[in-house]
Amino acid sequence: MIRVGKQNRVFILTGAGVSAESGIPTFRGAGGLWRNYRIEAVASPEAWARDPVLVWEFYSMRRKMAKAARPNAAHVALAELESKIGERLFLCTQNVDNLHEQAGSTHVTHMHGELLKTRCERCLREPFADDACYEPPVAIPRCECGGKLRPHICWFGEVPFKLDSIFAELERCALFVAIGTSGVVEPAASFVAQVRARARTYYVGPELPANHSAFEECFQGEAGKIVPDLFRLD
Ligand SMILES: [Zn+2]
Repeated sequence: MIRVGKQNRVFILTGAGVSAESGIPTFRGAGGLWRNYRIEAVASPEAWARDPVLVWEFYSMRRKMAKAARPNAAHVALAELESKIGERLFLCTQNVDNLHEQAGSTHVTHMHGELLKTRCERCLREPFADDACYEPPVAIPRCECGGKLRPHICWFGEVPFKLDSIFAELERCALFVAIGTSGVVEPAASFVAQVRARARTYYVGPELPANHSAFEECFQGEAGKIVPDLFRLD
């Protein structure tokens, strides 16, 4: 049980484990392979430069999986927490699916991008909603400017999104709760070390993360079972 005081700001970081409980494979665990390709070979700027058709095939497959998935009890509980404490909740996710939004969360910071958005590789046009699949014989989509359109995803070797607002929120939160993250992907893995001198820190997930010793307390078990009863509001 985590007590949330009346003035407390709550930073929640969700990772692949939360989506995995809804049936979305992580692709990072268990060898991280897709069709025998190492995941870096389909999710990096180098892969995009070398074989954009293959990259879009991979993300088209992931779009189909994400569209078929439904939020679980952890997503629902976090949406309910937002409805109770409003802007005192900062929900940051490493996940690229839209399960938090499907559950009703309205303010979600997707630090690794969004599977159901596309952007231009060349111009500054805003990323836009797009759930289409681009697999042969469908050609790689093009922007009006002529540039290739790419998935709005933070690939290996790219800088995560919204880091300014994430670090600003880490500076002022009273509670930090990581849920279903492996604790190895930077910079998210270091968030707990950054806040623990000042904030209460908790972890929720079936397996202890690599950085578990940095947390004040770990709740071991499925997020869908633990998160719905996790918070007590003062
Ligand atoms: Zn463009």
